[in-house]
Order: sequence, then C-alpha cells, then structure tokens
Amino acid sequence: MPTTKDPQPATRIGYGFDSHEFHTGIPLKIGGVMLPHDKGLGGHSDGDVLLHAITDALLGAMAAPDIGALFPPSDPRWKGADSVIFLREAMKRVHDAGYAVANLDASLILSAPKIGPHAAAIRARVGELLSVHADRVGLKAKTPEGLNLDNAAIAHVVVLLEPAKQRKSAPRRKPKARR
Ligand SMILES: [Zn+2]
Repeated sequence: MPTTKDPQPATRIGYGFDSHEFHTGIPLKIGGVMLPHDKGLGGHSDGDVLLHAITDALLGAMAAPDIGALFPPSDPRWKGADSVIFLREAMKRVHDAGYAVANLDASLILSAPKIGPHAAAIRARVGELLSVHADRVGLKAKTPEGLNLDNAAIAHVVVLLEPAKQRKSAPRRKPKARR
C-alpha cells in the first residue's frame, strides 16, 4: 500500500440498490414524493426505496459507510424517519469533500402504481435534494416481468460526482499560501 494520501479523483461514480416490500395501510413515498396508492413500502424508516438507493450511491461514490451502517434499522430513532435525513447526510459528505452531483440515473422496478404520471414531480424533488436541475435526474420505471416480485419495489441508482464549482465571486487564481 502506498503511504502517500490518494489525491481526489476528478470524478467519482457511485451505485446504489434497495428493495422494500409493499404493505397495506401505510403511505407510499418514492423519491420524497407521496404517491396515491392503496399500499406503501414497509421496513426501514419511511420505506422510500429511491431515496435509500440514491443515498447509498452517494455514500458509495465517497467510499463511505453505507446507509445501513450510518442509520441502522435496529435504531428506534430511524423508525418511520423521513429518508431525506439520510440523503442530506450523504450530500453533506459529498459537499465537504468538494464534490457536487454531475448527474444521476435511476431505475425503479415495481408492478404498481404507474410512475409515469409522477415522474416529473419525483425528478424535480430529487433534483432539489441534490442541488441539481431536474434535467440531470434520469428516472425510468419498469414492471418486474418474469421476476415474480409483484409485492416489492426495487431501485437501482448510479450517480456521477464532479468537483464543486467555485462560487462566481471567488477569485479564479490560487491564493498565495500564508505562512
Ligand atoms: Zn431502504
């Protein structure tokens, strides 16, 4: 192993996966948006399968511990928690390391409800949470053909990070080192 510190790469890629089971009598939240449906996603926190996969993609890009390590399902604090909390922690790590989201692409796999009518709202909300325009948020929804997974929602996400841009008011040239 080299002993010198690894210089930060210009870009970093992250991948996240998550799945949750549908249960009756709970609200359905996907990508931070409430969707009208007779079932919701159970399990960890509010069950937002898309925000969990995005959080893990961001954490993975930073080679940070994953969502389950940072927010263990066994911890009662996270029962029913808004998954935006998890995403914000991941974004804080991204920003602290000097990165910003370049773009994100997500695939949702679920038999119902149809995502199409809500895709614009989900992309807008995810873009807002990641501080990027909705045009940088890809969202595809598929039905689980041949997978026998009609009672599950699955999300796959890839995210690309790039160096955060300097603020326009900041000087372009490197400031002289102070001693
Ligand atoms: Zn999850």
